[in-house]
Amino acid sequence: MRARHVSPLDTHARQDARIRRLMLAGVLALIYLLVICIFYLQGLIALSVLQTNAVLMGSGFLVFRLCFALGLNLKIQEKNLRLPITISAIGIMLYTVYIAPITQIAFIPFLFLVMAFVMHRLSPREVLFLAGATLVGYALVVASHYATRTDSAMLTLECAQLLVLAVTLPGFAVLANRVQRLQSALFKANRKIRDIEEDAQRDVLLGCFNRRYIVAALEQQKRLADETGTPLCLAVIDLDHFKRINDEAGHLGGDEVLRVFTRIAQKNIRDGDVFGRYGGEEFLLVLPETALLAALNVAERIREQVEHFEWDEKLRNRVTVSIGLTQYLPGESVLDLFSRTDTAMYLAKQGGRNQVVVEEPTLDLGIA
Ligand code: GH3
Ligand code: MG
Ligand code: MG
Repeated sequence: MRARHVSPLDTHARQDARIRRLMLAGVLALIYLLVICIFYLQGLIALSVLQTNAVLMGSGFLVFRLCFALGLNLKIQEKNLRLPITISAIGIMLYTVYIAPITQIAFIPFLFLVMAFVMHRLSPREVLFLAGATLVGYALVVASHYATRTDSAMLTLECAQLLVLAVTLPGFAVLANRVQRLQSALFKANRKIRDIEEDAQRDVLLGCFNRRYIVAALEQQKRLADETGTPLCLAVIDLDHFKRINDEAGHLGGDEVLRVFTRIAQKNIRDGDVFGRYGGEEFLLVLPETALLAALNVAERIREQVEHFEWDEKLRNRVTVSIGLTQYLPGESVLDLFSRTDTAMYLAKQGGRNQVVVEEPTLDLGIA
C-alpha cells in the first residue's frame, strides 16, 4: 500500500469538515427542540421540560464545539467523536422521555433519524453497541416510570415501545454493514473511473499525453491566450530518419528510442507545458505563457540533448530531431497554427534535419 503523507493543511481541512458535521448535528438538535416546543405549545409538557432540553442540547453542542476548537479530539483515535456525540444526543432525548413520557412520540423517529445519519460511519459493532445502550437506557426509563407512576395506559405503551425498539434496532447493525459495503464498492468504482480517465489521456507505449489530449489542450490554451493576451507557442517535433533507426535497432529498439526521447522532452519542460504524441514518431509541445525566444531555448535544449544522449553503439550520432516552432497569432485557428508549425518542421527536414526552424510571421522574438 502507498504511504500517504498528511500535511498540516490536510489536518486543518479535516478538522473543518468535522466542525461542519457537528453543525449538521446541531441543526438536527434544533429541529428536535422545535418539536419539543410544539409539545409545550400544545400544553402537553411543562415549560421546564422545554427549558431543560434547550440547556442540555445547547451545552452538549458547546462542549463538542470546544473540543474541536481546542483540538482535544485529535488526541484520541476516533477524531470525529461520532459515538460520544450520538450517545449524548440519544441520552438527552431519553432523559426528556424520563421527565416527560409523552415526548416518546418524538423519541422513536428522532432516534431512527440519528441512527440513519451515523450508521454508515460507525462500524457494525459500534452500531450494535449504540442500539444495545439505547435499549438499556429506554428500559431503565420505563422501569423508573413503573416504580413511580400509576398511569397504566402509558406504561403499557412504553412496554410496547420497548418491544418495538428491541426488534427493530439490531436491524441498523445489518443495514450499517450493507451501507458500508456499498460505500466501499462505490469508492473502488470511483477510483477505477479515475484510472480509466487518466489512461484515456495517455499514450500506451510512452506514458506521455496522447493525440486526443494534446489537441484538446492546444484548443484550450488558444482560448486562454485569446482571453488573456498572453503569448502561446507550439512546437512540432519529429524524429529524423526513424525508419532507419527501426531498421538498425529493431522495432523494440525504436520503441526504446521513443521512450528516451519522451523522458528528455519531459525533463526540459515546465509544469504548465503540455507534451504529447501526435502520432508515430511525431510529437507536439504546447508552451502556454511563453514568448518565442523562451520557447526557442526549450526546443534547442531538447534537440541538443537528444543529439548528445549516450545512445547504443549502433545508434550513436544517428538519433536526432527536427523541430518546427511558432507563436500563436491572435485570432488564428488551431488548424492554421498547427499547419504553420508543421511547415516549419518540414523546413527543418529540408534544411538538413537536426535543427529548430522558427516560423516567425510578423512577431518579434519576445526580447522586448
Ligand atoms: P523523416 O526524417 O523524414 O521524418 O524520416 P522518418 O523515417 O522518420 O519518417 P517516416 O514518416 O518515413 O517514418 C516514420 C517511421 O516511424 C515509420 C514507422 O514505422 C515508425 N514508427 C511510428 N511509430 C512507431 C512506434 O511506435 N515504434 C516504432 N519503433 N516505430 C514507429
Ligand atoms: Mg520522422
Ligand atoms: Mg513523421
